[in-house]
Amino acid sequence: MKWRKIIPLGLACCLLLGGCAEQREQAQQMLENSKMKNRHEATTFAMDTVMTFTVIHEDGEELIIDAEQEIRRLENLLSVTLENSEISKLNAAAGKEPVAISNDTMILLNAGINLGALVGGAFDIAISPVVKAWGFTEEEHRVPTKEELAALLPLTDFEDIILEKGTAFLQKEGMAVDLGGITKGYASDEVAFLLKGKGVSSAIFSLGGNVYGIGTKHDGEKWEVALANPLDVNDYCGIISVENQAVVTSGGYQRYFEENGKKYHHIIDPKTGYPAESGLLSVTIISESGTEADVLSTALYVMGLEKALDFWKENDMFEAIFITEEGEVVATEGADACFAFEGRDNDFTYRVVERG
Ligand code: AMP
Ligand code: MG
Repeated sequence: MKWRKIIPLGLACCLLLGGCAEQREQAQQMLENSKMKNRHEATTFAMDTVMTFTVIHEDGEELIIDAEQEIRRLENLLSVTLENSEISKLNAAAGKEPVAISNDTMILLNAGINLGALVGGAFDIAISPVVKAWGFTEEEHRVPTKEELAALLPLTDFEDIILEKGTAFLQKEGMAVDLGGITKGYASDEVAFLLKGKGVSSAIFSLGGNVYGIGTKHDGEKWEVALANPLDVNDYCGIISVENQAVVTSGGYQRYFEENGKKYHHIIDPKTGYPAESGLLSVTIISESGTEADVLSTALYVMGLEKALDFWKENDMFEAIFITEEGEVVATEGADACFAFEGRDNDFTYRVVERG
């Protein structure tokens, strides 16, 4: 008698549990479907590069338009090629007079100068005359003479930029500022701030390779960013998982020209005026700050692996993955924790560096 009661009760429990699991699964599916329905994607061209957005929010379409407007507003202030930008006006007044600048331009110039000092000059926002001499600014590439570069180098010191009471002044005639190595990172921070402020808790966007992941994917998993193979841009060396973080890569393979069989890329060593030859193919930075990630990817590329690792050991606001000319992928221990290396098939080797 007792058993007869217990068994059907037991069965009922199983059915109930089964029902619960089914309902839970259905509810989960409905939630995922509604999130997928709210998935909005767009691609645009701004700041001389392709930008892609994925925003999971019911107002995603309008929010992406807001983000694009913010990027264009910043571009109009900060571009070195747009004639009426604040940076162009600042450059035109070099050696003559201070120029009134808006809050964003002030923040960015300040960040550029402070981070430039932090990395010991490997990043220099006053590098513009040299970048221009190589033809990277107007995309009219040429190899400048040694004498030409030697004459320009004294004009490329960010310490000669004076920021005061809402104005900026380039002290020497011929000086010029180029924010190309920091603007997209700053724009990614501004877009993340804008979207989060409007209630977005799940989005990923790439501003010409400056990636920022807000929250997680619709299924709660971290966003995944491919680490490009610098020897073949259609291939990758692994996957970086991020949540509320920026991932920024700098590499000579991203922009270069060839003359007489030699490649000249766009990341300049401020000490020499020549494209940095530091033994690295790319540097990827993972950080909560897109601005810092952008500066550091450029700066650590110039430094080379050894100096960059010393810098990382003394500064804990970022993690990094380096790809060397020897085919070694080197990850800092924090980067290793969110990185799945997949480059073995392409003859890359993998090494993790500990902080201690
Ligand atoms: P990124 O693509 O972020 O590594 O930045 C490279 C861009 O920043 C170049 O196209 C130049 O406009 C500028 N740039 C090149 N070398 C440097 C440097 N050493 N410091 C600051 N900006 C640089
Ligand atoms: Mg950069």
